[in-house]
Amino acid sequence: MPVAYLGLGSNLGDRRATLAAAVRRLRAEPGLRVLAVSGYYETAPVDCPPGSGDYLNAAAAVETDRDPHDLLKLLQHIERQFGRVRTGVNSPRTLDLDLLLYGDRVIDTPDLVVPHPRLHERDFVLIPLLELAGSVGHEVVHPILDKTANELMGADLTRYADPSLPRPRVYLNRPPSPQLLAGQRALVTGSTSGIGVRIAIEYAGHGATVISHGRRPDFDHPDRYISADLTDPVECDRLADEAWNRSGGLDIVVLNAGADTLTGDAVSWSFDQKLDALLAVDLKATMRLGRNLGARMKARGRGVILTVGWDQAETGMEGDSGQLFAAVKGAVTCFTRSLALSLAPEVRVNCLAPGWIRTAWGETASPGWQERVRRETPLGVWGLPEDVAAAAVWLASPAAGFVTGQTYRINGGAVRG
Ligand code: ADP
Ligand code: MG
Repeated sequence: MPVAYLGLGSNLGDRRATLAAAVRRLRAEPGLRVLAVSGYYETAPVDCPPGSGDYLNAAAAVETDRDPHDLLKLLQHIERQFGRVRTGVNSPRTLDLDLLLYGDRVIDTPDLVVPHPRLHERDFVLIPLLELAGSVGHEVVHPILDKTANELMGADLTRYADPSLPRPRVYLNRPPSPQLLAGQRALVTGSTSGIGVRIAIEYAGHGATVISHGRRPDFDHPDRYISADLTDPVECDRLADEAWNRSGGLDIVVLNAGADTLTGDAVSWSFDQKLDALLAVDLKATMRLGRNLGARMKARGRGVILTVGWDQAETGMEGDSGQLFAAVKGAVTCFTRSLALSLAPEVRVNCLAPGWIRTAWGETASPGWQERVRRETPLGVWGLPEDVAAAAVWLASPAAGFVTGQTYRINGGAVRG
C-alpha cells in the first residue's frame, strides 16, 4: 500500500485538542492505518487575513487502500465534522487537513493537486515532514522537485535572512488532564496491551495511582506491576492480596483481563480449549477477583468495580468466536448486575461492553473486516481503546456517583436498544 502524508493545521478554538481528536479520528478510519504523527508545531500565520491567530501544525504518515481523490473526500468530511466552515481564502479554521504527498504520485486536477502545491515553501509543513522520516524509516521525497524534505528546507534558508520571519517552534506545552481520579488507587487487570493499557494510562493521567497486571513477569516496574496467571484460582487470590496490600486498599478495580483466543498459538486450539480458557480467565477470574476485592471495598465503605463484556453478546454473532464470546461475555455482564446488587450501596459496579475496537488485531484485520466495521457501525469507524478508556474514567469518577448495575456499550451504535 502507498504511504501518504497529511498536513494538519488549526488556528481556531482549542487547537491542541482539535489536532489530537483529528488524529484519533484518522486512527479509527477503517482501511487506513496511521503509521506516525509528528509533534505539534506552533507557527505564525502565512498569507492570512489580518488578526489571524497562530497555527498549530502537524503531519501524519498513513497507509490507505483509498485512492487520492477518495482520501481527499475523507479529509474534507473530517474537516466538516470538526466544524470547519469555508469562508474567505486562508480564513481561520478549526481544522485543515491537506493531502501533502501520495507515494510518488503526481496529480493535477481542478480539485486535487499532489504534491500539495505550497508544500515545498512552507516550513510548517516541511519541519513536521522531516520529523516523520525518522519514524517511517525512509526520507520523504518530493516527486516533482526530486528533493527530500531536508533538502527543501535547506534550499530556502534565505527566507531566514529576515529575522522578523519566525521559524516554526515546537509546541511542548501539554496541558495536564483534569485530575478526576486524584488520590485514587486502581488495579487494572490485563493491562499490558490493548484496552487495558489505555485504561491504565488514562487513569494515571487523571491522577490515580495504578497497579497494572499481566501474565508475564515484568521487572521494569516491579512496584507498579503484578504478574499472575488468572487461570489459577490461587494466583487470583494472590493478585487480590498483593494489589490490596501494596496500595493500602483499592478504590477502583477494572477486571479487564481476557484470554486471547484470536492470535498466536491459540488460533490452532480446539473449540473446547478456547472455551476453557475464556471461562477460566474472562469469567471465573472476573468473578473471583470481583467477589474478593468487592467484599474488601464494601467492608471499607467505598469502591468502584468495572468489568468488560461485549456488545454483540446480546445480539449474537455467527461462527465459533461469536458462540464463545457471547456465552462468556454475556455471563460476565449478568454477573456484574448481581455483584452490583450484592455490593450496593458502598460499591458501584458496572460493565463496559465494547464493540469493534481497533486493538492489535484490528490494525491488521483483512479488507473484508475493515468493510464489515464500516457497514455494521453507524458511525462508520473503528472504536479506539481510548474510547473505552474515556468511559472507564467517567464511570470510576465521582461524576458517575449515581450509576451502578449498568452495561455501557461503547460501539459507535453497532448494537442498540
Ligand atoms: P488550504 O489548505 O490551502 O488553506 P483549503 O483547505 O480551503 O485551503 O483548500 C482549498 C481547496 O484546495 C479545496 O477545495 C481542495 O479541493 C483543494 N486542494 C487541491 N489540492 C489539495 C490537496 N493536495 N490537499 C487538500 N486540498 C487540496
Ligand atoms: Mg486544506
